[in-house]
Amino acid sequence: MASVPENPAADQSAALPFGSSLVGASRTDLAETLRSLGLPDREIRMRVSQLWHWIYFQGSTSFDAMLNIGKPLRARLVKHYTLGRPEVVSQQVSSDGTRKWLFRMPPVDARDKGAEIECVYIPESDRGTLCVSSQVGCTLTCTFCHTGTQKLVRNLTQREIVQQLVAARDQLGDFPGQTPPTDGPIPSGEGVRAISNIVFMGMGEPLYNFDNVRNAIGVMSDGEGLSLSKRRITVSTSGVVPQIGPLGDEAGSMLAISLHAVRDDLRNTLVPLNKKYPIRELLEACRNYPGVSNARRITFEYVMLKGVNDSPAEARELVRLLKGIPAKINLIPFNPWPGTQYECSDWETIEKFSDIVFNAGYASPVRTPRGRDILAACGQLKSETEKLRARARLALEENEAAP
Ligand code: SAH
Ligand code: SF4
Repeated sequence: MASVPENPAADQSAALPFGSSLVGASRTDLAETLRSLGLPDREIRMRVSQLWHWIYFQGSTSFDAMLNIGKPLRARLVKHYTLGRPEVVSQQVSSDGTRKWLFRMPPVDARDKGAEIECVYIPESDRGTLCVSSQVGCTLTCTFCHTGTQKLVRNLTQREIVQQLVAARDQLGDFPGQTPPTDGPIPSGEGVRAISNIVFMGMGEPLYNFDNVRNAIGVMSDGEGLSLSKRRITVSTSGVVPQIGPLGDEAGSMLAISLHAVRDDLRNTLVPLNKKYPIRELLEACRNYPGVSNARRITFEYVMLKGVNDSPAEARELVRLLKGIPAKINLIPFNPWPGTQYECSDWETIEKFSDIVFNAGYASPVRTPRGRDILAACGQLKSETEKLRARARLALEENEAAP
């Protein structure tokens, strides 16, 4: 397991520290917190349910709104806790409606300045997908990935992971009584939710932050709150084999595998973790993924790198390797970033590759790049904090200068 600095708040199942936000807390966290405030055992279950409804169903930002919770308890909550969300440092809206936010998380302790992470929202006609991060940076060093070049790494806490969803819903006006923004498309209509799907495809390796990711999925999928279907939550991994089974058992989410190569020698270079967990072991773990079936397929991601992994022979080998695994294949055009040694495959090469995959029975395999103009696409998420800050400052100055 990679060594990631432990976050002091990460493993607490006890009461949340004074001064922190209740947003992102699990039912157990809330129960422990209320107990520490002196609430009698017989009341705790009911109060947790009430808080849950206000925080996650209503999206309340103030304890004062929680009218079914008595004034004395509300006063204690106000005194010791917040309903804080991450601060929105900046928002960019792409010409295709993709949104990228830079969120600054509330500090988790006295030494922490608050993690800054990017979060991307991709609207489509029948769904809205939020791409969340599980770590700041990533300890793995996949050679084609911008995030892997970032030095600073720490695990996000369960609450920080959930807060990305809550903050994004705030920004999209998606809680009761809020108004959606008008500067870009948001899917709407009977039974359509602004955010219907979550993918753990932002910064970080989710399976190196297993407990927090599993617990966050528990909060996000709770039917009385945020209520996202687990079948619409996908965890993408570069192949942390020992954690794949537990993910299926304990989180029950969908699984995506960043495969990107069909031979170990090449995958060792592209995804160095392959040296530890080679392709054969990885695919064995996929075959045994709890709950996998033709209705619940595993997604295999394959980034198209010009002259590196994009030959017809590799397409045929890909199909052969995946035989017997209920699978979907996502061909991802490589998103270049400043300083990268790779190029995206030519369109004809991608088409040829995709034809071979398609003829083997896998549908719609090429993922259209989204949000390219705002560097929001996969693997481009590296805290471009400085640049974004400068842009945000500029926007502010322009606003101030406006008549
Ligand atoms: N660490 C996890 C999840 C985050 S990366 C993982 O590797 O699966 C999300 C997806 O984006 C992965 O499939 C990753 O391989 C892909 N990706 C990374 N850099 C990319 C780039 N520059 N262009 C296209 N896809 C990229
Ligand atoms: Fe980390 Fe995934 Fe990027 Fe690899 S592709 S460096 S595992 S974020």
